[in-house]
Amino acid sequence: MKEIHILHLYPNELNTYGDHGNRLVLMKRLGWTGYEPVVHHHHPGDSLAKQIDFVIGGGGQDSAQADVQADILKIGDGLRKLAESGVPMLTICGTYQLFGHRFVTNTGQEVKGISIFDLETVGSDKRMIGNVMVKSEFGTIFGFENHSGQTFLGENQAPLAKVLRGNGNNGKDKTEGARSLNVFGTYLHGPILPNNPAFCDELIKLAVENHYGEFSRRKIDDSLSEMARATARRRPY
Ligand code: GLN
Repeated sequence: MKEIHILHLYPNELNTYGDHGNRLVLMKRLGWTGYEPVVHHHHPGDSLAKQIDFVIGGGGQDSAQADVQADILKIGDGLRKLAESGVPMLTICGTYQLFGHRFVTNTGQEVKGISIFDLETVGSDKRMIGNVMVKSEFGTIFGFENHSGQTFLGENQAPLAKVLRGNGNNGKDKTEGARSLNVFGTYLHGPILPNNPAFCDELIKLAVENHYGEFSRRKIDDSLSEMARATARRRPY
């Protein structure tokens, strides 16, 4: 079987609300689509894996983000090159913030990012917590947010989605997440991929096309996740 190599950034430090579930769903759906997933866990101090077709990273506390800051700045050039070559990446919450220019926490500590996204995050005293529903080019996406950071996109930075319910990037401008090339950032936990299989399959398509030049979809039975999505739609914030 053709392989797809997944780089999982900082699985020990950044895993709020079981964001590892994104890796599990990616692996399952890759398998059902006819590809063999190969996972590389990246820990602080490691050098970047040689073969990378997909990058994922989860959320975490402010202190955990500070703990991985030095390492992500070290591998930032490598990640930027991968992004420029079309490698899809899914970055959640804490990792999403680290893919921007900086995150200034509500105690005034600055955590530097790698500027793949043109955005900045500022910690606030109010935590934004609750169920979120957003509209994206991949359909409605459901998830759960919990962050103090308010993210503001640069003028030409595309968001991932428009907020229908919840706060999204900052609770003010109705944007949620970011997209640059095939790199996606979002505040949505859940984890996001089990509840949003159409989004997962688009990411898989991007990874497979980027590596192998062509992709053919297989029909997957998503009746269980359709039930979960119907419940998510009815949930209050
Ligand atoms: N520590 C960051 C914040 O509170 C990210 C939180 C998260 O990853 N859930 O904004």
